Amino acid sequence: MAPGNIREETIPNHQIHTLLFDLDNTLYPKSCGLAAQVTRRITQYMSSKLNLPEEEVDKIRGHYYKTYGLTLKGLMMNYQCFDATLEYLEMLDYSKPHPQSYQMALKKAGTDDANGVVFFDDVVENLEGAKKAGMITVLVGGTSDSPAVDYCIQEIHDLVKIFPQLISLPQIQS
Ligand SMILES: [Mg+2]
Repeated sequence: MAPGNIREETIPNHQIHTLLFDLDNTLYPKSCGLAAQVTRRITQYMSSKLNLPEEEVDKIRGHYYKTYGLTLKGLMMNYQCFDATLEYLEMLDYSKPHPQSYQMALKKAGTDDANGVVFFDDVVENLEGAKKAGMITVLVGGTSDSPAVDYCIQEIHDLVKIFPQLISLPQIQS
């Protein structure tokens, strides 16, 4: 599907009430370098905390990411010096595209009406999970023919092109 194209027949006719955004390469564009900066800061922090050279930390970080899905979870499973609250631990067990992650996002957003939720992400696999949860899906920064992708936009600012009703909401009018 070309950027900006809409698969209208798949869009539920529901009132949009909630927008959920992925962060890296979605809300923040790839060009701003957020993901690279976060990776660099994680490496520096781990190097300092574990007293290991950054080259060795990079290998550990990559292994934990592949094994646990998140570097932090690998650190918490293998080092007592990394800790988190019980609530955050629960979230670590269910990162995208695990089905429970979308249910947790709905709960955090205070809704059980997934049909009124728009989910923005740069990874099709994550949008497939959101679609299974009943959400409207938007691929940011790419194109896809996946039936799980309702809209494709090039950057997050383009959301007003596909949802013009969002800029006329009373609470954000000047
Ligand atoms: Mg992303």
